[in-house]
Amino acid sequence: MRLVLVGPPASGKGTQAAILTVRLGVPKISTGDMLRQARAARTELGLAAEGFMNAGLLVPDDVVIGLVSERLEQADAQSGFILDGFPRTVVQAEALEALLARRGTPLDVVVQIDVSSDLLLERATLRRTDKRTGQIYHLKYTPPPPDADLEHRKDDQEDTVRKRLDEYDAMTAALLPHYQALGLLKRIDGVGKPEQVTERMLQVLRVAGS
Ligand code: AMP
Repeated sequence: MRLVLVGPPASGKGTQAAILTVRLGVPKISTGDMLRQARAARTELGLAAEGFMNAGLLVPDDVVIGLVSERLEQADAQSGFILDGFPRTVVQAEALEALLARRGTPLDVVVQIDVSSDLLLERATLRRTDKRTGQIYHLKYTPPPPDADLEHRKDDQEDTVRKRLDEYDAMTAALLPHYQALGLLKRIDGVGKPEQVTERMLQVLRVAGS
């Protein structure tokens, strides 16, 4: 299964990708995670990306395209993948299509996760990650255990989340019609418990895969 997940910040893309990677047995490739790791490791790429990320802006296309191209060459991505957070622009989508066409392995489906902006804002601003385990919590809905070593992502602060939501709207204005025109786009409702959203997702994938 070669799958792209599209959804606004805090729509549950990362959570669903983590569940689906186990259910489908293909790797989750998250450009956000890869960029955060590069930033934490202070690599050249991480330092170049840092300013854009902290401001809630997109990292330049050539940087993320290079990152994903390298990742897709690795052995575990040959039998399928779940892309989380990439592509975000039509330039990135076209680069991905060209790369997959060269391998003769086109995308199977692009799933868009729909959630209203008010709920997204609440989810992001109350989202916390345990630095040691990477586990994601929500202070209201899925409170962390007392011994968790919590981090509030810099780009989950309210002003930055608003900016990221605006970026997402601008992005999808072009990206979703692109995938619609290719007949690849499916939409699911992202409101509900993670397992309910997973069921909707698997339903869509069964249809796409049949
Ligand atoms: P995410 O965790 O997917 O919300 O990504 C966090 C941040 O990483 C974004 O706000 C961007 O600054 C950057 N980023 C992640 N993926 C991409 C992408 N495909 N294109 C450009 N910037 C990206």
